[in-house]
Amino acid sequence: MSCSFDLEHYCEILEAARAGGYRFAYFGDDPELGDLFLRHDIDLSLAAALTMAEVEAELGVRATYLLMTESVFYNLASAEGVAAISRLRELGHAVGLHAVHPNVVLDERFDPVVSWHNPRPEYMSEEITGAVNAYGERYFSPQTYRSDSNQHWRAGCPHDELRAGSFPWLQILVHPAIWVYPGTTMGQTMRGLVEADKKRRLAQLAEDGIDLD
Ligand SMILES: [Zn+2]
Ligand SMILES: [Zn+2]
Repeated sequence: MSCSFDLEHYCEILEAARAGGYRFAYFGDDPELGDLFLRHDIDLSLAAALTMAEVEAELGVRATYLLMTESVFYNLASAEGVAAISRLRELGHAVGLHAVHPNVVLDERFDPVVSWHNPRPEYMSEEITGAVNAYGERYFSPQTYRSDSNQHWRAGCPHDELRAGSFPWLQILVHPAIWVYPGTTMGQTMRGLVEADKKRRLAQLAEDGIDLD
Protein backbone atom coordinates (compact mmCIF):
# COMPACT_ATOMS: atom_id res chain seq x y z
CA MET A 1 0.00 0.00 0.00
CA SER A 2 1.40 3.37 -0.93
CA CYS A 3 0.89 6.05 1.68
CA SER A 4 0.17 8.80 -0.81
CA PHE A 5 -1.73 11.92 0.14
CA ASP A 6 -4.80 11.37 -1.98
CA LEU A 7 -8.42 10.44 -1.33
CA GLU A 8 -7.85 6.82 -2.26
CA HIS A 9 -5.38 6.30 0.56
CA TYR A 10 -7.46 8.45 2.88
CA CYS A 11 -10.33 5.99 2.39
CA GLU A 12 -7.92 3.12 3.07
CA ILE A 13 -6.94 4.77 6.37
CA LEU A 14 -10.61 5.13 7.35
CA GLU A 15 -11.27 1.55 6.36
CA ALA A 16 -8.25 0.41 8.40
CA ALA A 17 -9.65 2.28 11.41
CA ARG A 18 -12.95 0.50 11.04
CA ALA A 19 -11.21 -2.88 10.65
CA GLY A 20 -9.25 -2.12 13.82
CA GLY A 21 -12.50 -1.66 15.72
CA TYR A 22 -12.29 2.11 16.19
CA ARG A 23 -15.36 4.26 16.72
CA PHE A 24 -15.56 7.80 15.30
CA ALA A 25 -15.99 10.12 18.27
CA TYR A 26 -16.75 13.79 18.83
CA PHE A 27 -14.72 15.98 21.16
CA GLY A 28 -16.43 16.59 24.48
CA ASP A 29 -16.27 13.52 26.68
CA ASP A 30 -13.03 12.02 27.90
CA PRO A 31 -11.41 9.69 25.40
CA GLU A 32 -12.42 6.07 25.86
CA LEU A 33 -10.83 2.89 24.62
CA GLY A 34 -11.44 2.60 20.86
CA ASP A 35 -12.30 6.27 20.25
CA LEU A 36 -11.02 7.90 17.08
CA PHE A 37 -11.21 11.69 17.00
CA LEU A 38 -10.98 12.64 13.37
CA ARG A 39 -10.15 16.33 13.27
CA HIS A 40 -9.89 18.61 10.27
CA ASP A 41 -8.35 22.07 10.66
CA ILE A 42 -9.51 24.09 7.67
CA ASP A 43 -6.73 26.53 6.85
CA LEU A 44 -7.04 26.87 3.10
CA SER A 45 -10.11 25.62 1.34
CA LEU A 46 -13.80 25.13 2.10
CA ALA A 47 -14.17 23.28 -1.22
CA ALA A 48 -11.60 20.68 -0.14
CA ALA A 49 -13.32 20.37 3.24
CA LEU A 50 -16.63 19.65 1.54
CA THR A 51 -15.10 17.10 -0.83
CA MET A 52 -13.62 15.21 2.11
CA ALA A 53 -16.80 15.56 4.14
CA GLU A 54 -18.85 13.94 1.36
CA VAL A 55 -16.41 11.04 1.05
CA GLU A 56 -16.52 10.46 4.81
CA ALA A 57 -20.31 10.60 4.92
CA GLU A 58 -20.53 7.94 2.21
CA LEU A 59 -18.39 5.71 4.42
CA GLY A 60 -20.52 6.49 7.47
CA VAL A 61 -17.65 8.37 9.08
CA ARG A 62 -18.10 11.40 11.35
CA ALA A 63 -15.44 14.01 11.80
CA THR A 64 -14.95 17.39 13.45
CA TYR A 65 -14.35 20.30 11.07
CA LEU A 66 -12.69 23.31 12.65
CA LEU A 67 -13.26 26.42 10.56
CA MET A 68 -11.61 29.83 10.72
CA THR A 69 -13.32 33.19 11.02
CA GLU A 70 -9.98 34.94 10.37
CA SER A 71 -8.71 33.06 7.34
CA VAL A 72 -7.07 34.99 4.51
CA PHE A 73 -8.12 32.19 2.14
CA TYR A 74 -11.88 32.02 2.68
CA ASN A 75 -14.73 33.99 4.17
CA LEU A 76 -16.97 32.02 6.49
CA ALA A 77 -19.50 34.87 6.57
CA SER A 78 -19.97 34.76 2.77
CA ALA A 79 -22.78 32.79 1.11
CA GLU A 80 -20.19 30.14 0.29
CA GLY A 81 -19.15 29.93 3.94
CA VAL A 82 -22.71 29.72 5.24
CA ALA A 83 -23.52 26.98 2.73
CA ALA A 84 -20.39 25.04 3.71
CA ILE A 85 -21.34 24.99 7.39
CA SER A 86 -24.86 23.90 6.63
CA ARG A 87 -23.67 21.06 4.36
CA LEU A 88 -21.14 19.85 6.97
CA ARG A 89 -23.95 19.74 9.53
CA GLU A 90 -26.27 17.93 7.12
CA LEU A 91 -23.63 15.27 6.61
CA GLY A 92 -23.47 14.70 10.37
CA HIS A 93 -20.09 16.26 11.09
CA ALA A 94 -19.30 18.47 14.06
CA VAL A 95 -18.24 22.07 13.36
CA GLY A 96 -15.92 23.94 15.70
CA LEU A 97 -13.60 26.93 15.59
CA HIS A 98 -10.04 26.95 14.26
CA ALA A 99 -8.96 30.00 16.21
CA VAL A 100 -6.14 32.50 16.00
CA HIS A 101 -4.86 32.97 19.55
CA PRO A 102 -6.20 34.53 21.72
CA ASN A 103 -9.46 35.11 19.81
CA VAL A 104 -12.20 32.66 20.72
CA VAL A 105 -15.66 33.88 19.73
CA LEU A 106 -17.98 30.90 19.74
CA ASP A 107 -21.20 32.07 18.19
CA GLU A 108 -24.14 29.83 17.23
CA ARG A 109 -22.31 28.50 14.17
CA PHE A 110 -19.90 26.50 16.29
CA ASP A 111 -19.93 23.57 18.66
CA PRO A 112 -17.83 24.37 21.74
CA VAL A 113 -14.61 22.88 20.39
CA VAL A 114 -11.51 24.84 19.47
CA SER A 115 -8.14 24.14 17.88
CA TRP A 116 -5.47 26.81 17.58
CA HIS A 117 -4.07 27.82 14.21
CA ASN A 118 -0.24 27.57 14.25
CA PRO A 119 -0.13 27.35 18.06
CA ARG A 120 2.82 28.27 20.22
CA PRO A 121 3.78 25.85 22.99
CA GLU A 122 3.16 28.35 25.81
CA TYR A 123 -0.61 28.44 25.31
CA MET A 124 -1.30 25.44 23.10
CA SER A 125 -2.69 23.07 25.74
CA GLU A 126 -4.18 25.62 28.14
CA GLU A 127 -7.80 25.26 29.20
CA ILE A 128 -10.23 27.39 27.18
CA THR A 129 -13.22 28.78 29.10
CA GLY A 130 -16.46 27.40 27.69
CA ALA A 131 -14.90 25.13 25.08
CA VAL A 132 -12.94 21.95 24.58
CA ASN A 133 -9.36 22.56 23.47
CA ALA A 134 -8.44 19.85 20.94
CA TYR A 135 -4.83 20.39 22.00
CA GLY A 136 -5.78 20.12 25.69
CA GLU A 137 -4.00 17.51 27.82
CA ARG A 138 -7.01 15.21 27.74
CA TYR A 139 -6.81 14.80 23.97
CA PHE A 140 -3.23 15.45 23.14
CA SER A 141 -0.30 13.15 23.88
CA PRO A 142 2.42 11.95 21.53
CA GLN A 143 1.25 8.31 21.77
CA THR A 144 -2.34 9.08 20.80
CA TYR A 145 -1.92 11.84 18.23
CA ARG A 146 -1.02 11.80 14.54
CA SER A 147 -0.90 14.74 12.13
CA ASP A 148 -0.41 14.96 8.37
CA SER A 149 1.25 18.41 8.46
CA ASN A 150 2.78 19.41 5.12
CA GLN A 151 2.21 15.88 3.75
CA HIS A 152 4.47 14.42 6.40
CA TRP A 153 3.36 12.02 9.14
CA ARG A 154 6.03 12.69 11.72
CA ALA A 155 5.39 9.35 13.44
CA GLY A 156 4.45 7.50 10.25
CA CYS A 157 1.16 6.96 8.44
CA PRO A 158 -1.19 5.40 11.00
CA HIS A 159 -2.92 2.89 8.70
CA ASP A 160 -1.09 -0.25 9.90
CA GLU A 161 -1.47 0.56 13.57
CA LEU A 162 -5.13 1.44 13.09
CA ARG A 163 -5.81 -1.85 11.34
CA ALA A 164 -4.01 -3.71 14.12
CA GLY A 165 -5.88 -1.77 16.80
CA SER A 166 -2.56 -0.71 18.35
CA PHE A 167 -3.69 2.69 19.62
CA PRO A 168 -5.84 2.66 22.78
CA TRP A 169 -7.57 5.67 21.19
CA LEU A 170 -6.35 8.28 18.74
CA GLN A 171 -6.73 11.88 17.65
CA ILE A 172 -5.81 12.25 14.01
CA LEU A 173 -5.41 15.67 12.37
CA VAL A 174 -6.02 15.67 8.63
CA HIS A 175 -5.94 18.81 6.46
CA PRO A 176 -8.34 18.16 3.55
CA ALA A 177 -6.60 20.45 1.04
CA ILE A 178 -3.43 18.37 1.06
CA TRP A 179 -5.37 15.20 0.16
CA VAL A 180 -7.91 16.58 -2.30
CA TYR A 181 -5.67 18.45 -4.75
CA PRO A 182 -3.35 16.54 -7.07
CA GLY A 183 0.42 16.42 -6.66
CA THR A 184 3.15 14.20 -5.31
CA THR A 185 4.82 16.97 -3.31
CA MET A 186 3.35 19.61 -1.03
CA GLY A 187 4.44 22.28 -3.52
CA GLN A 188 2.63 20.60 -6.41
CA THR A 189 -0.47 20.04 -4.31
CA MET A 190 -0.57 23.69 -3.25
CA ARG A 191 -0.18 24.75 -6.86
CA GLY A 192 -3.11 22.44 -7.66
CA LEU A 193 -5.12 24.29 -5.04
CA VAL A 194 -4.17 27.66 -6.53
CA GLU A 195 -5.20 26.50 -10.03
CA ALA A 196 -8.59 25.34 -8.73
CA ASP A 197 -8.96 28.64 -6.90
CA LYS A 198 -8.23 30.58 -10.07
CA LYS A 199 -11.24 28.95 -11.75
CA ARG A 200 -13.36 29.68 -8.71
CA ARG A 201 -12.29 33.34 -8.69
CA LEU A 202 -13.08 33.78 -12.39
CA ALA A 203 -16.53 32.27 -11.85
CA GLN A 204 -17.09 34.63 -8.90
CA LEU A 205 -16.08 37.62 -11.01
CA ALA A 206 -18.51 36.61 -13.76
CA GLU A 207 -21.21 36.07 -11.14
CA ASP A 208 -20.56 39.58 -9.88
CA GLY A 209 -21.17 41.04 -13.34
CA ILE A 210 -17.52 41.81 -14.06
CA ASP A 211 -16.66 41.97 -17.76
CA LEU A 212 -13.99 39.35 -18.40
CA ASP A 213 -13.71 39.77 -22.16
ZN1 LIG B 1 -0.67 4.74 4.94
ZN1 LIG C 1 -4.31 26.03 11.05
